[in-house]
Amino acid sequence: MSECLFCKIRDGEIPGDIVYENEYVLAFNDINPVAPIHILIIPKEHISTLNDLEKDHAQTMGEMFLAAKEIASKEGLSDSGYRTVFNCNEHGQQTVFHIHLHLIGGRQMTWPPG
Ligand code: AMP
Ligand code: ZN
Repeated sequence: MSECLFCKIRDGEIPGDIVYENEYVLAFNDINPVAPIHILIIPKEHISTLNDLEKDHAQTMGEMFLAAKEIASKEGLSDSGYRTVFNCNEHGQQTVFHIHLHLIGGRQMTWPPG
């Protein structure tokens, strides 16, 4: 059994508030949202960090962004806009080591990020 939190959500071992799923990706609401809409898009395949990406992950990575576009549209964010973020390791403030694309929207963002 996997020790990875997001693999457990993928496998239904712990609950996730799932909003989208296809062959490659799963998306669920963030448990601690930083904006009115905060959704995490994960690959179904376990990949720990962006540093672990290989050439044959290219399709999965593309599917993550296509899912982000699709979900943003469903959530009514396409025109107002939104942010997509991958955090990597300590300086990126990654806390869950199964890569995930944050889809954040529903309010004005600021730049630079903290
Ligand atoms: P990161 O800091 O980029 O690794 O992001 C991890 C994200 O996972 C944070 O935004 C957390 O709020 C979120 N998170 C942690 N546990 C859960 C959970 N059980 N279900 C949904 N989101 C979670
Ligand atoms: Zn995992």
